Amino acid sequence: MNKQTRIPVAVLGATGMVGQRFIELLQGHPWFELVGLGASERSVGRPYAEVTRWRLPGPGSEMPAAAGRLPVMTSNPASLPGVKIVFSALPAEVAGDIEEDFARAGVAVFSNARNHRMAADVPLLIPEVNADHAAAIVQQRKLRGWSGCIVTNANCSATPLVIALKPLQAAFGVRKVLVTTLQAISGAGYPGVPSYDILDNAIPYISGEEEKVQAETLKMLGRWEEGPGFTAAPMIVSAHCNRVATREGHLECASIELERDAEPEEIIAAWENYQPEAQRLQLPSSPERALSYRREPDRPQTLRDRDTGRGMTVTIGRLRRCPVLSYKFALLGHNTIRGAAGGSILNAELCVSKGLV
Ligand code: NAP
Repeated sequence: MNKQTRIPVAVLGATGMVGQRFIELLQGHPWFELVGLGASERSVGRPYAEVTRWRLPGPGSEMPAAAGRLPVMTSNPASLPGVKIVFSALPAEVAGDIEEDFARAGVAVFSNARNHRMAADVPLLIPEVNADHAAAIVQQRKLRGWSGCIVTNANCSATPLVIALKPLQAAFGVRKVLVTTLQAISGAGYPGVPSYDILDNAIPYISGEEEKVQAETLKMLGRWEEGPGFTAAPMIVSAHCNRVATREGHLECASIELERDAEPEEIIAAWENYQPEAQRLQLPSSPERALSYRREPDRPQTLRDRDTGRGMTVTIGRLRRCPVLSYKFALLGHNTIRGAAGGSILNAELCVSKGLV
């Protein structure tokens, strides 16, 4: 695909934490051209630069100038004509109906919101984990009479967990997973958790998060077949979700029970040699490696490892025997990149490369 034939795309929820990541990652994208931005009525009708306090740190700390000039539009298909793909970073309170309106109008929606994730005809997609689930789009279009579609990506804690589990499920089988998360404040959007509540603190509750991690993990690691649809993976998952005072990056401590015992080096090899089909497609947003195993005793660390593979690589470390289940380890994923905007863009690239969009 060359610059002349780039697909016109829009971002909904463009002013928020995830929306800003979308805009950063779509800048100069080889397949997608950002032509439209949507947000709430608070922002509509004014240039993006005027209504957005750009908050990204590091290399993305300058708002892309072209995006800054775009007017913010109402989040409906009539206000964004000609757009073929919409990336949704809308809050769940409004995402459901708006995303369906776009799909009905012939637009492919790649969503971060929870609303449609568990629907029986909606893929909950991670290209390196369950690329075959993308085929559910065909059944979805038939069932709903849409020419567009809805594809979702998972909760930002479930995403890195599932990427770490998939090679182990494939090589040894996984029966049980117990995971404790230490989730960054950006996961709550902006302004998110008040500073007085989170500084010098850790909060052992994130509304609805544990249920999402448990259910979404089983859907993604399960099967998709035309006709019967999705079958959950035969696995038990229990999650403890905590908010901690980091800005970006969700660190997770997992214990797992394998179906077949394995030596530690076999497990590390399963991670290091994992080469799913999606990796071989060399999609523009694919990291060189979906997983990176670090052997230092004190890694992964949120601050030092979250940007590995431009935020798209999940870093794993500290594999050791678990006296309760089989093994335990730590893993880390960037929540607004791999767990949100970067993951959605990769999903769109996969669907375009498969001819589904
Ligand atoms: P956020 O920072 O609160 O941003 C929300 C965005 O939605 C803003 O652009 C806001 O526009 C817009 N919006 C609010 N009400 C609207 C309405 N009635 N109509 C149209 N637009 C509206 O939230 P976020 O953290 O970016 O999260 C966005 C979505 O991604 C959520 O569903 C969240 O659960 C999901 N998600 C987030 C993460 C993460 O790490 N943050 C990870 C995975 C998934 P205005 O500025 O005009 O109000």
